[in-house]
Amino acid sequence: MLAARYYGPKDIRVEEVDKPVCKPSQVLVKIAYAGICGSDMHNYRKGMFMTYVPEIMGHEFSGTIVEVGEGVQELSTGLQVVGDPRVPCGQCQWCLEEQINLCPQLGFIGEVSPGCFAPYLLMDPAKLLIIPPEVPLLEVTMVEPLAVAVHIIRSSGLHTMQANETIGIIGAGPIGLLAMMTLKALCGVRTIMIDITPERLELAEKLGADKCLNSVTKMDENSVEAAIEAVGLGLTLQEAMRCLKPQGKLVMAGLYEEPSFLDPNPIVTKELRLIGINTYEKADLHEAVNLIKQGKVKVRQLITDIIPLQEIPRVFRDLDIKGKTSAKVVISMDKEY
Ligand SMILES: [Zn+2]
Ligand SMILES: [Zn+2]
Repeated sequence: MLAARYYGPKDIRVEEVDKPVCKPSQVLVKIAYAGICGSDMHNYRKGMFMTYVPEIMGHEFSGTIVEVGEGVQELSTGLQVVGDPRVPCGQCQWCLEEQINLCPQLGFIGEVSPGCFAPYLLMDPAKLLIIPPEVPLLEVTMVEPLAVAVHIIRSSGLHTMQANETIGIIGAGPIGLLAMMTLKALCGVRTIMIDITPERLELAEKLGADKCLNSVTKMDENSVEAAIEAVGLGLTLQEAMRCLKPQGKLVMAGLYEEPSFLDPNPIVTKELRLIGINTYEKADLHEAVNLIKQGKVKVRQLITDIIPLQEIPRVFRDLDIKGKTSAKVVISMDKEY
């Protein structure tokens, strides 16, 4: 089969690899769609989380079970599934308490083991969520990033925000947009989306943002009850501190490629509440499936590009050079590779 493998920074190759063989206690999933995530871009530029080279990239997928290994009782071929792509150590205090997003050794498929930028993927059956046949596989490719948005909201208590309160969301990428759409589905909070890309702001407006700004510096000082930083830059984090009201919540959902110098005084003087976000919990994945199934978060509108597997190296190059005009790029494995 063909697969997109990571060889080093800015070096992804689509090449022939062996189709995985289903062993006892495993299932083989035929991938329908795979999503390109922000963390894939971090890997592309810096190899931030890659453990092996070469490795098949990708951790967001939807597909159908085509083979079940010996001893697997609870699943059968033909079922539509999405997966929990996290690979925890399984031994630490947090793994044992089922808070695997806090596992210090946490990795992902596509980084520490083969990923889903290929037509077939072996999975641990316990890591699969069954999707009813009436739900389109293209839409549930968004379950994993939507689970991040759900986790941002649930673990920060943002779902209790009222119509007379405002949240600033910095970064109108998939995570920022999904957080905005989920907040709209769960509560009446007023949302301001901030991004430098006009295409993304246009999309944010179409998806229901109450206000859009093309620079975080245009945010008024002491104007929002909560802010989500979904970019991962010191500058935007500092600006978030500036526009938060005293005792406001600063939710940090971006990953930083570089260390940054900050003035932390606003955290002290305004008594800001700092909340870090790392991936999601199992319950967030289930809630994400339900939000899509019930049509409460219309994720299809976020998928701006659907590409074939062979296009992956070009698309990564474009996303890196031209900036992010697209929201979610999804790879279709429709054809038999
Ligand atoms: Zn992801
Ligand atoms: Zn662990």
